Amino acid sequence: MHDDRRLVEDRLARMLTTRIAPAKYAGSCPLEIEVWHVPDEPVPVAEALAADYEPFAVGQRWGAPWSTSWFRIRGAIPKEWQGKRVEAVIDLGFTKAQAGFQAEALAHDLQGRPIKGIAPRNDHVPLTGDVVGLLIEAAANPDVQENGMQPTMLGDKETAGKDPLYVFTAADVKLLDEDVWHLQMDVEVLSQLMHQLSTSDPRRHEILRALERALDAIDVADISGTAATARAELTEVLSRPAHASAHKLSAVGHAHIDSAWLWPQRETIRKTARTFATVTALAQEYPEFIFACSQAQQYAWIKEHQPIIFERIAAAVKAGQWAPVGGMWVESDANLPGGEALARQLVHGKRFFLDEFGYECEEVWLPDSFGYTAAFPQLAKLAGARWFLTQKMSWNQTNKMPHHTFWWEGIDGTKVFTHLPPVDTYNSEFSGKEMAYAVSNYLEKGRGTTSLVPFGYGDGGGGPTREMLERARRLRDLEGTAKVTIEKPSEFFEKAHEEYPDAPVWSGEMYLELHRATYTSQARTKAGNRRSEHLLREAELWAATAAVHGDFEYPYEAFDRLWKVVLLHQFHDILPGSSIAWVHKEAEAKYAAVAAELQAITNAALSSLAGSGDQRLIFNTSPRARSEVIDGALTSVPASGAAVVSTVDATEVTVTDRLLDNGLVRITVDDNGLMTSVIADGREILSSPGNLLQLHPDLPNFWDAWDIDAHYKRRHTDLTNVDSINVVSTGAEGAIEVVRSFGSSRITQVISVRAGSRRIDVRTEIDWHESEKILKAAFPIDIHADRSAAEIQFGHVYRPTHTNTSWDAARFEIYAHRWVHVAEPGYGVAVLNDSTYGHDIGRVSNEDGTTTTTVRLSLVRAPRFPDPYADQGKHVMTYSLLPGASISDAVAEGYALNLPVRSARGATIPDPLVTVDSDAVTVEAVKLADDQSGDVIVRLYEALGGRASAVVKTSFPVSSVQAADLLERPLADASVTSEGIPVSLRPFQVLTLRLSR
Ligand SMILES: [Zn+2]
Repeated sequence: MHDDRRLVEDRLARMLTTRIAPAKYAGSCPLEIEVWHVPDEPVPVAEALAADYEPFAVGQRWGAPWSTSWFRIRGAIPKEWQGKRVEAVIDLGFTKAQAGFQAEALAHDLQGRPIKGIAPRNDHVPLTGDVVGLLIEAAANPDVQENGMQPTMLGDKETAGKDPLYVFTAADVKLLDEDVWHLQMDVEVLSQLMHQLSTSDPRRHEILRALERALDAIDVADISGTAATARAELTEVLSRPAHASAHKLSAVGHAHIDSAWLWPQRETIRKTARTFATVTALAQEYPEFIFACSQAQQYAWIKEHQPIIFERIAAAVKAGQWAPVGGMWVESDANLPGGEALARQLVHGKRFFLDEFGYECEEVWLPDSFGYTAAFPQLAKLAGARWFLTQKMSWNQTNKMPHHTFWWEGIDGTKVFTHLPPVDTYNSEFSGKEMAYAVSNYLEKGRGTTSLVPFGYGDGGGGPTREMLERARRLRDLEGTAKVTIEKPSEFFEKAHEEYPDAPVWSGEMYLELHRATYTSQARTKAGNRRSEHLLREAELWAATAAVHGDFEYPYEAFDRLWKVVLLHQFHDILPGSSIAWVHKEAEAKYAAVAAELQAITNAALSSLAGSGDQRLIFNTSPRARSEVIDGALTSVPASGAAVVSTVDATEVTVTDRLLDNGLVRITVDDNGLMTSVIADGREILSSPGNLLQLHPDLPNFWDAWDIDAHYKRRHTDLTNVDSINVVSTGAEGAIEVVRSFGSSRITQVISVRAGSRRIDVRTEIDWHESEKILKAAFPIDIHADRSAAEIQFGHVYRPTHTNTSWDAARFEIYAHRWVHVAEPGYGVAVLNDSTYGHDIGRVSNEDGTTTTTVRLSLVRAPRFPDPYADQGKHVMTYSLLPGASISDAVAEGYALNLPVRSARGATIPDPLVTVDSDAVTVEAVKLADDQSGDVIVRLYEALGGRASAVVKTSFPVSSVQAADLLERPLADASVTSEGIPVSLRPFQVLTLRLSR
């Protein structure tokens, strides 16, 4: 036979795109349009119903960036179409750009009830009856990435300009020709499948010839009249069943909607409304359709702003067509949130779904976060989750994860059954290419037979489309491709687990080899998160103490609300610093408001505890006893307790403008303001000058706010020029201030030590006006360390300091919470911080045989996309060097640095509500139970990585104790004796106790 394969394929391509697809509508009539441009921010539909509309026509421009216009669209449906499949088709001026990153709209009826979203690839609104009446809320969202990753002013309403962005292109009533549309679906599915098959595969040629016969059957002058005949030519090839060994794809509708990113939060509320309206409408049309939807926050927004859509969601959940997934408040960053905050993500997410739908999520759903903490398996399990899903690890630049389905083991040994969909996308459209890729990429072949495919356009693109569902129907059981079944993620996980119970194990963190700058970008957002987490701990502890020991009213509502604000801002584009200026400006304002409210709660609780009197009392929120210099005296305060300020003067620190010495540490500063020597425990800590500020160029290859690329290290400037060095504090706390200017920026650092402590604090104020640079603070430490420890949630992880393997080398930037620690047997040094996360730790061997382990903190960056002025302006932070530190010391001082003592005047020293007689068993949270029963909740963890036994004592009578899950649901009774509550924990175990009074 002559080989004319390519000729047939070319003919097919032209017919499909220029003849069949355009013929899907058999008729079209224009509709009448009127408009009301909203003066400023979006308004509720009631206001739009009452507004004055003016005439508007197709071809007119509309929509300044971020503005809203309401279009009232009316007309008649031709008589001969009535009873057929008629729809309004609206083109707001859609571009070829990604769906979800341009104009979008929500169609309502003329009574203001939402019908369905309108998006570039989902532009129709179904119509019935004989007249058309639609009210369309159109959002002129700009495409912030229209010029790739170039700096743009579009990311803030104040700077985005006023010129209209869009040309209104069409508003028509159209008649859908179902034969033609189904022919288009048949041809697309077969053609895409054919192109994935080998040319040596007979199936490819059978499909080719069937398609050729279908094309022959079409009269191009009468596609509508000949479509059914053409389809008949395809019936046989479409009915061939899949091979017995075909891979099984478990498909679920999805719309990954970032809770803020290249748009502000208020637009996310509307994006979710549009997508959810579309999805619930689609569920009516396709009974087999199931939609998986995460992020309780988005449901809460819909409940508040779009009650009608929320009712439809609740009905879809009940009908089994809507699966809440993830059980988290938002899809948070999965590296940076503190331990208690990550627990609360799960608590508030799961509780919302339980309260609203009686639905218990059993999986964690984080397809898009930038790496996954090794604390997650335990937290997931303690929240009642059995499974974990992500897709982001496929973005690794260097190393490919070796498994798609595996047991993920956390720092404490807990394992969670985990799946990375091999389709490598969470926005699948069931293209032939995606189907074939999922199969070929799947690493468990021979052991496992199934993988998951989330399908649908995200970020306002409208989610799954009817075309995707039509493709899924054709892909159920089709020779040459994987078998597609639409089902809930829980059904997928049950089956995957059942067939593969002995899946391989991945132990420790899932470090994303990309987006490493998200530990540092938008430093004020990060500082706000860190501060909020600690203020919440503080307010809960003192409010609970004051409520149990007095008549203080525990502010349940405020804590619930404030936690949710903090949890929302841990979303995986806010806390990582990868959003537009608008988002980060709002985040900073929200953090300030949260701080003010929490300070007020804490102050009220403390004054309730202290009673009236004139003694100066000091309160210590941290889980360890500590000594602090207050008014020149050294005062000791118990863990979670209070003390009267001492009046005995502490030993003075020796201080000159070149020396600080408190008898425990002796720091020498040179003329450049650098620490040239730090002597503690009779040894020199530094190999070369420390607290060296280093400025690197920082222009990543692609994603500005997200990435720091390894090449940044090859150039740097040491900031050694000094404006001034002065003694700024003497007495029991000695401090030297070093001021430097460079470029357009200025840094003021106060290096201080206080009596009785080895900790050297460096309070740093940066007035930052650099561009595409990163500032690091280096401590070259004379320690031979193979690995560094970094605090994460409820524990720490070790990472190599060398670069033996490609996996080690790829971790050239790492994150830590409050501390990192490097040690050789017998001696360790910790570096602590109160607001930053990014670090790099490496080592070099010196000529004399010694090893220098250099710890550097990433203080501030200056990326230009998506916020062109990211990080500009003032930053205040403190980092500390702690010589002679064990891990236990690092834990204690990490808490102390982040939880400054508070003072109040009063008469009473309250007993700590809860004490623990072990340094390893660490109190993370003390609060009253969320069910308002008055029970006290205590969350503890083993912080050192070993086994620990301890007795938990309370300053109030306890009638019974139960171990509980994170949601405070009892798991098992625990014993309580006259001595207290004995507990024994395995390494890094988290334990929640519920104490009844
Ligand atoms: Zn995302």
